Amino acid sequence: MEIITAVRGFKDILPTETGKWQYIEKIAREILANFGFREIRVPILEKTELFKRSIGESTDIVEKEMYTFLDRGDEYLTLRPEATASIVRAYLEHVMYAQDPVARLFTIGPMFRRERPQRGRYRQFHQINAELLGLDDPRTDAEVILMLMQFLMRIEISDLHLQINSLGCTKCRPSFRKALSDFLAGKEDRLCKDCQRRIAMNPLRVFDCKTTNCIEVIDHAPQILNFLCPGCMDHFTRVKEALGMFAIAFEVNPKMVRGLDYYAKTTFEVVTEHLGAQNAVAGGGRYDGLVKDLGGPDIPGIGFAIGLERLISISPFMDEKFLMPPQLFIAAIGDKAQKLAFSVCNRLRTMGITTEMDYSGKSLKSQMKRADKLSSHYALILGDREILENKAEFRDMQKGTQETIGLDDLEKTIIKIVKGS
Ligand code: AMP
Repeated sequence: MEIITAVRGFKDILPTETGKWQYIEKIAREILANFGFREIRVPILEKTELFKRSIGESTDIVEKEMYTFLDRGDEYLTLRPEATASIVRAYLEHVMYAQDPVARLFTIGPMFRRERPQRGRYRQFHQINAELLGLDDPRTDAEVILMLMQFLMRIEISDLHLQINSLGCTKCRPSFRKALSDFLAGKEDRLCKDCQRRIAMNPLRVFDCKTTNCIEVIDHAPQILNFLCPGCMDHFTRVKEALGMFAIAFEVNPKMVRGLDYYAKTTFEVVTEHLGAQNAVAGGGRYDGLVKDLGGPDIPGIGFAIGLERLISISPFMDEKFLMPPQLFIAAIGDKAQKLAFSVCNRLRTMGITTEMDYSGKSLKSQMKRADKLSSHYALILGDREILENKAEFRDMQKGTQETIGLDDLEKTIIKIVKGS
């Protein structure tokens, strides 16, 4: 019978890999805590309406990438394609702004987008999301970018490029949109089908298109930075100044509009050459209108998402560094020895010693081979004859030395040696 495999674009994270994931998440939690961010855990399933209203109906995500289904004929639900919408929903539902006008929140978990799978692009992938709600001071834009860059540097990701842009606000974006529509008018036949449709709905989306022809057309298009109102211009200047205070190198990329409609003012992305076509490790931006659009008060926000699969694929840490070999392996030959091994093994585990034992009853040679394979630091060798003599052999597998130890106070003796090493 054939085995059932995982769904295309959905990946297992194997035990050999999870150590690295846990380590990277631990560093992220540490840095997020230093910046005052607290964890929020939101559901992975939300009402479809939430994403339509926040991410935008004319975005790739909402148009063609969401896993949406009708729940028993009742209502449309969607596996979350990103976390900001869910966090803002929770923020509003629990009236968090009434407890504190500023909320710094983060979450780590899976996202779902039905994109074409390729290297660095999966249908289930994981993100670390950080969201800062309640402040529109340009220093907070720099603060979240600084936090992101510090994290990426702490986990030794090299050749990072930070790109920033400003998308303006509801005051200045309409004039840019108009200029862009005018520019694209008459060039429809050079654009792909999707972009032709997008011109009317949301011409900014043409900037996201990966089609060669569309890229060529958009290359000469008007740029948002030339349309910013004085308020947005000042905000952007001050973000750049604040980044300069921390000597964070950045590049202004006026073509980076990001694929979600809710962004306003600052947007940013961190890219690296090590990733191939899918070169973004992290991205984010300000979304000052989102809370209001979702039915809440006029509260500003800014946040980012880091893609964990991409991050881990370029992390210099080796999987082996995170394997946790047993401290002790118990080899037991004979019935009495096996019985004693079983009891000692589990008692030592309850006392905090990582212990493995053999259940096969095979030859000593084969049991020691397994101890070696597991890279156990020590091995306890029990034989029925030795038990009669009230003794056992204790081997330091790393040093290759061996000593005879008594069975009285066996666990105490082992703990002393293992914890002392
Ligand atoms: P976004 O939410 O689109 O701004 O994406 C933020 C980050 O999530 C990106 O920079 C990627 O690192 C990661 N990401 C987005 N989509 C995928 C995907 N389909 N597979 C793997 N990682 C992704």
